[in-house]
Amino acid sequence: APASPPARHLFSDPAEIEALRGNLLAWYDRCKRDLPWRSLAATEPDADRRGYAVWVSEIMLQQTQVATVIDYYNRWMQKWPTLQALAQASLEEVNELWAGLGYYSRGKRLQEAARKVVLELAGRMPRTAEDLQKLLPGVGRYTAGAIASISYGQATGVVDGNVIRVLCRLRCIGADSSSPAVIDRLWDMANVLVDSSRPGDFNQALMELGATVCVPKAPLCRECPVKQHCQAWRRKLFGKPCPVPDVEDCGVGDCPLCPPATEPWDSSLGVTNFPRKAAKKPPRAMRTATCVLERRGCHGAPEYLIVQRPSSGLLAGLWEFPSLPLAQDLQEEKEREELADHLQAWIRQPVAAKGLQFIGEVIHIFSHIHQTYVVYSLHLDGDVTLDPALSPFRWVTEDEFHASAVSTAMKKV
Ligand code: SF4
Repeated sequence: APASPPARHLFSDPAEIEALRGNLLAWYDRCKRDLPWRSLAATEPDADRRGYAVWVSEIMLQQTQVATVIDYYNRWMQKWPTLQALAQASLEEVNELWAGLGYYSRGKRLQEAARKVVLELAGRMPRTAEDLQKLLPGVGRYTAGAIASISYGQATGVVDGNVIRVLCRLRCIGADSSSPAVIDRLWDMANVLVDSSRPGDFNQALMELGATVCVPKAPLCRECPVKQHCQAWRRKLFGKPCPVPDVEDCGVGDCPLCPPATEPWDSSLGVTNFPRKAAKKPPRAMRTATCVLERRGCHGAPEYLIVQRPSSGLLAGLWEFPSLPLAQDLQEEKEREELADHLQAWIRQPVAAKGLQFIGEVIHIFSHIHQTYVVYSLHLDGDVTLDPALSPFRWVTEDEFHASAVSTAMKKV
């Protein structure tokens, strides 16, 4: 059985917990950012609408910066102000609004879950973190805790990337912060710390602290409202985590929460010694040939062919220029030939590889893929009949292209 962590990694003193809550909430009341979902959650009298508003914001904020989300959130809530409205939307409309926000399966699952609430739960949002997680597809432990605490006042903690960083620093947790053992401890800690009279504000305050003060690279410790509770800060100031005994007392190599003995505290890093993560796998490199096929539309304006991606997998259901994944290290000539064959299947007329004009390369980083698009263009003269048996396609003007459900990568192309 793993050794249980020494008390210095935990919060066990009720007076300290109380003081930390008070300091954090007072700071939050003074300094919190004014965000549309916060105003909605604070003023909306209807509990289901409140839950829906927080839910949408939490799904959009996964992996995405607040500044990017605000505009998408406002447009979403204007278009679908209620669960019932969202349940009636088509996936195409959802993808169109989501275009550019990335991680497209989030929008799709949000819409599927809204349908489920309307059809199977009589339009009533589950009210506890446990039920939210159990009943709503795409709602994990963090999102469930956030909705339940912010919308329904349930005294339950949350752990996201910001909270992980803050807690690991507050308690000098230097073991791999993505390991299940550490994550479990952090959830325990978040549940102990959460303020039962203002759980939603407390959770948002802890996340806000991580987003604006206890930031990854250059945390603003001198301005931090909880620095007197922070062991990483004490350790930086005094060279050891006083007043509790120093790190050796954990039993280096045995303590499940201390940094590994092979990578001890590095004084040049200060508080950014924490958190620590196992090295990430490098993203997979992929090359894709893509062709901007252009024709003269009936009003003389150029039109471009876009085709729909399959309904599952990366960028599911989004539209793109006809594209073909390539083997690595393929000669340029071979790339052209393969692309020409691919296009020929679409337009049912011979395409000469030499007729494809090379435009350039576009690099786009997905979370786990380093994608290079090799971009070609081809102008088509006369009537072109496309094979309706192939996946859905359409000809669009430039404006229509930008209003379609296309990814940021395709906009770059
Ligand atoms: Fe983070 Fe510094 Fe505050 Fe500690 S004192 S919680 S390291 S900002």
